[in-house]
Amino acid sequence: TAAVRAVGLSKSYGEGEAAVRALDGVHTEFMGAAFTAIMGPSGSGKSTLMHCLAGLDTATSGLVYLGDTELTGLSDRELTELRRHRIGFVFQAFNLLPVLTAEENMLLPMRLGGVDPDPEWMAEIVGRLGLTERLGHLPHELSGGQQQRVAVARALLPRPDVIFADEPTGNLDSRSGTEVLELLRSSVREFGQTVVMVTHDPVAASYSDRVVLIADGRIAGEIDRPTTDSVI
Ligand code: ADP
Ligand code: ADP
Repeated sequence: TAAVRAVGLSKSYGEGEAAVRALDGVHTEFMGAAFTAIMGPSGSGKSTLMHCLAGLDTATSGLVYLGDTELTGLSDRELTELRRHRIGFVFQAFNLLPVLTAEENMLLPMRLGGVDPDPEWMAEIVGRLGLTERLGHLPHELSGGQQQRVAVARALLPRPDVIFADEPTGNLDSRSGTEVLELLRSSVREFGQTVVMVTHDPVAASYSDRVVLIADGRIAGEIDRPTTDSVI
């Protein structure tokens, strides 16, 4: 089965005449252990789709499945639990807390859930991200690329089934962007995680296995095994 599935997903903001239809009957699937990029013009519904798929926002109609679990039927508490254990998020703005060290930021979601990460897994992630020497630093003492890697580590630590990344390289120079993309790709290849990433950047999209194109709140096409040229 698909890791994530949208069935007839529609989302409107506002009421009546003033309503904006951000998603209009979206059907799509994201298979397990695949890296998918969502691309489309500004305002086409990409963020709305990600937020509905991740249980951060509720659709007006339609269904979302995470594996066999249907999200729209869950209570707020069940959704919070599911987000905590099965979903990871990476945002364009790194969303690190400025008064916490890199390590404390990474561990915060798990601590809030009352669990500790597996130390070996933590060492593996931190080592791969080149953050071993940076664990005690505050965010302002880190470069943008390092801050985003802390945010990626925070998302990977609970070993979620699915990672949603919204423009994860949007604020990064190309070298840091490449490091983040390679990490996301290796988490798919080596750890079997599913990554769904919104991006405007053809280079970022070329790291994915498949691009889903969205326009006016609908799926407008797909590109398998994209290259930088095929998504421009
Ligand atoms: P994208 O991520 O592709 O830029 P969005 O999902 O952010 O697109 O937005 C899709 C449409 O929904 C746009 O017309 C946008 O203006 C509208 N929209 C998004 N969020 C809200 C909101 N909170 N309230 C009202 N309209 C919104
Ligand atoms: P965008 O820039 O694409 O609109 P934001 O970073 O503004 O995305 O976040 C969108 C929504 O997701 C906000 O309502 C925010 O409160 C929520 N959010 C952000 N991070 C998390 C998280 N880790 N867990 C739950 N909700 C989150």
